[in-house]
Amino acid sequence: MSTRLDGLLHRIDAACEAAGRDPGSVRLLPVTKFFPATDVEILYGLGRRDFGESREQEASAKVAALGEYLAAQDDSDIRWHMIGRLQRNKARVVARWAHTVHSVDSERLATTLDTAARAALDAGERSDPLRVLVQISLDDDPARGGVVARELDALADRIAGLPGLRLGGLMAIAPLDVPADSAFARLATLHTSLMARHPEATELSAGMSGDLEAAVEHGSTCVRVGTALMGARPITSA
Ligand SMILES: *Cc1c(COP(=O)(O)O)cnc(C)c1O
Repeated sequence: MSTRLDGLLHRIDAACEAAGRDPGSVRLLPVTKFFPATDVEILYGLGRRDFGESREQEASAKVAALGEYLAAQDDSDIRWHMIGRLQRNKARVVARWAHTVHSVDSERLATTLDTAARAALDAGERSDPLRVLVQISLDDDPARGGVVARELDALADRIAGLPGLRLGGLMAIAPLDVPADSAFARLATLHTSLMARHPEATELSAGMSGDLEAAVEHGSTCVRVGTALMGARPITSA
């Protein structure tokens, strides 16, 4: 794991250099879905503090396991990111443990998360508003998740007005049928216009194992990497 992590960090640095960007401007978010809590512990031991998960039940179990591990170390410095599609009936649970939700793509989901985050704040289960990224669809096919571009401003405005949430930026997954370079170029344009309206929305969560170079070229600030770090997931993975 240590060798693969080093290789991946070098790959991200090289992508930054090729794009003429400061290596400190792109964060690695290890995606640990389908891998056990013990692997998260190993990565934690190697200095990683942010972890991405995509399925609520699996994530909640891992969060609990890491909570015990960190309590034993007298440490609590960890940030969990929900990156997968989120059903509204899971919002209350996710609001207990998530530092950031990357996959907010509707006003209904945003409103539900706001209620959930405020309940978690009131109950002392979290200390800060829930940071959310708007997931945008780059192929305008809402079946794959993400809000279509023409609805981005309305959704971002709505989130910015909700007290339990904090608008952090934009997230996207490159469509399969378009070259990543042109998809991420379009994403960069959308992110620039979002920041003109909401200067605080600086995060651009884009790029995975197969396309992180193209994402860094187009301004990604957070690459979500599973396979290139953890190895292949089971064939049933989503
Ligand atoms: C699984 C997943 C990733 C990581 O994908 P890899 O190709 O394994 O690096 C990134 N983003 C999301 C939303 C995912 O679900």
